[in-house]
Amino acid sequence: MRILLVGSGGREHALAWKLKQSPLVETLLIAPGNPGTAQEGHNLAITDDDIPALVRAAKEHAVDMVVPGPELPLVLGLKDALANEGIACFGPNAFCARLEGSKVFAKNMMRRAGIPTANFRVFEEAYEARQYAKSHPLPMVVKADGLAAGKGVIIAKTVDEALEAIDRIMVQRIFDAAGERIIIEEALIGEEASLLAFCDGKTVVPLSSAQDHKPVGENDTGPNTGGMGAYTPAPILPEQKLADLTELTITPLIRLLAEKGHPFQGVIYAGLMFTADGPFVLEYNVRFGDPECQPLMVRLESDLAEIMSACCRKELHRTPVRWSPQTGLCVVLSAPGYPGSYPKGMPITGLEQADEVPGVKVFQAGTAQKDDRLVTSGGRVLGVTALAPDLRAARDAAYQAADQIQFDGKYLRRDIGAKGMARA
Ligand code: AMP
Repeated sequence: MRILLVGSGGREHALAWKLKQSPLVETLLIAPGNPGTAQEGHNLAITDDDIPALVRAAKEHAVDMVVPGPELPLVLGLKDALANEGIACFGPNAFCARLEGSKVFAKNMMRRAGIPTANFRVFEEAYEARQYAKSHPLPMVVKADGLAAGKGVIIAKTVDEALEAIDRIMVQRIFDAAGERIIIEEALIGEEASLLAFCDGKTVVPLSSAQDHKPVGENDTGPNTGGMGAYTPAPILPEQKLADLTELTITPLIRLLAEKGHPFQGVIYAGLMFTADGPFVLEYNVRFGDPECQPLMVRLESDLAEIMSACCRKELHRTPVRWSPQTGLCVVLSAPGYPGSYPKGMPITGLEQADEVPGVKVFQAGTAQKDDRLVTSGGRVLGVTALAPDLRAARDAAYQAADQIQFDGKYLRRDIGAKGMARA
């Protein structure tokens, strides 16, 4: 198989690392990739939003399957463009990708499919939204409809905070067209976990459970980030509950999409909140979560290329998806200031020593090669990922390795895994 993987983060390095282990994979191309993915395959200088160039490259290199890592190329219709050329794509079409591209679309689909989600209303007018917010119970959640780089959700503890959020999204348009519509919904109280599933349009196979850590600060304080660490399995989501939870939160949606003539092929991610009244879906993503993908890949025993290809061929029901009984845990090392503004170009040292810690693999995210040195080039720089017999051992190995790595202002959360250990 010749595969073109799209993206440049820690998720894509983990996917490239796993795909390269497959005896089925003859050639692995990554667009645009990063210095980490360059160790697993061949990087192409094409950005993830340049759909015509990605399709051209897939044709030129006689690629059998394209694997988009992030949501943007999917929302922009990469699968649809590849389908016109007869090239398989492990990812949903633009219609299905609106589950992530439009929160209004996702909420309406959930309502139609009977999936538990927070009560909500949609607004296209700031005035009406303000009036509604003034009498909504607190806290309430204000969400921009479109893609907003993970920053479009505001949990307002006071009416003033809600009014300010409405103003910033709908009037000041800080997220541009993503703020043409907003959702105001009830706040759910509970613990979050992610449920991911492989889908071939019909068959839905849940991945092992994982828990992300979105806030930048320890004990889940401070602003939300793309994710500061993750581990799998997550004790909050025991393996024996995965089938029922998938049936409640994902399968009805996949069935509805198929009925509409849009079979979902790829990986779907449900962000769940476990409340006193049971699990609710907060959102869907139409791709692997990052960093969750990193510890999931070190635990996946089956052949990833075979699973992805089976999803494209609608043969997932015949394909094994097996996980190591061990625990995977990833600690993200970020640049100082992230998720706000941060410096770039700081030299990174100690990667080899970190990789020598037993069970550890360091995935690269925001890195760049400058002359013959590896330097930082993004907010989330590295994902230090360990596989070990249990959560405590995985945490110890990941932190031991993380401590080997140095760059100016290196930041990490020290409590990745703590919630899971408390629960266990
Ligand atoms: P979303 O992009 O919709 O998942 O929202 C991002 C984050 O905002 C989630 O991971 C939650 O932490 C939080 N969030 C979203 N919706 C709600 C809600 N209804 N109640 C409480 N927290 C929420």
